[in-house]
Amino acid sequence: MRTSRYKIQAANLPELRSMVNHMETRKYVYGPVPSRRLGQSLGIDTIPLKTCNWNCVYCQLGRSVPLTNLRKEYFPRQAILAEVRQSLNAHQVNEIDWITFVGSGEPTLHASTGWLIQQVKDITKLPVAVITNGSLLYLPEVRQELAAADAVLPSLDAGTPELYLKINRPHPEVTFQRLVNGLTAFREEYSGKLWVEVMLVSGLNDTRQALLDIAATLEKIKPDAVHINLPSRPPVEHWVQPPGEEALMQAVVILGNIAEVVHPAEGSFDLSGFDNPADAIVAIITRHPMRQVEIEKTLQRLPSERVRQLLFDLESSGKAKVVERFGVRFWSAAPSHFPDELRSIRTKPGSDRSG
Ligand code: SF4
Repeated sequence: MRTSRYKIQAANLPELRSMVNHMETRKYVYGPVPSRRLGQSLGIDTIPLKTCNWNCVYCQLGRSVPLTNLRKEYFPRQAILAEVRQSLNAHQVNEIDWITFVGSGEPTLHASTGWLIQQVKDITKLPVAVITNGSLLYLPEVRQELAAADAVLPSLDAGTPELYLKINRPHPEVTFQRLVNGLTAFREEYSGKLWVEVMLVSGLNDTRQALLDIAATLEKIKPDAVHINLPSRPPVEHWVQPPGEEALMQAVVILGNIAEVVHPAEGSFDLSGFDNPADAIVAIITRHPMRQVEIEKTLQRLPSERVRQLLFDLESSGKAKVVERFGVRFWSAAPSHFPDELRSIRTKPGSDRSG
């Protein structure tokens, strides 16, 4: 079992405060958080909430409002790097498995992604991963920037342009052809691990034909592994459901030997670097919505009355909101855009009201 000097517990809150009072509240680095694919992952979030060129129906961060395909320095790269240094100094090396560029949207939209990867590689021996939708890999400069990472984890949820539009709802500049061309070109140039994620959505890409189309596209890309994922955190659209057991088995068979289902990770959320648990929870749920039970477990050494009050205060102060999906209460960042059921249903492919 991992030990952390900074795991937040009621008994060591005062100690925590004194240990971190030299640090400012983190803005760009969070966790480590348990990752389904990367163990305990220290996240680097280089862009504002929901800055993305896709608007996936299953996104756990809400809708992309507005959709953007602009690469720029959203946050100052020196400030991000300074916070990475602080976080690494505050943790034992064995508390972190990967340093991961991921977070509030599409990380490659930050124009200094390559510079940041290189700098992080210079200050630590920990492996660096980039979780990306892969849509900008058609740009030679983005391929070159990601080349220094130890693993790149792009998405491929569709094998046809039509299904790509339905699931990923992309910015017009990032076409399906560009996605496939970019992934294929990157594979040819890149010597690190290329792990492609396929997020399965019931009724959209879990049919036999949709899976055959994805498999044919993966044949061209030749990734090292295919991670089959299921929506398990709150999908932005109400109607999104994971596939049934039979469809999942079919996916494993059709997507081939290198495909595996990745299950939701269990693990502890590290809340270090904050003066109080409320700010720490907000920092996590901005990038990684949490089930209420996960929050309660993370804060289990606080009296339950205090946890209830903390959650009440977060909601009433407008710092966080509850999103209900699959009959589960998830806590998400307050500014995230989750439509109600009626507005969501209009976006369902095949719905009378879609279009
Ligand atoms: S799932 Fe990722 S790529 Fe899709 S909209 Fe959300 S942040 Fe963007």
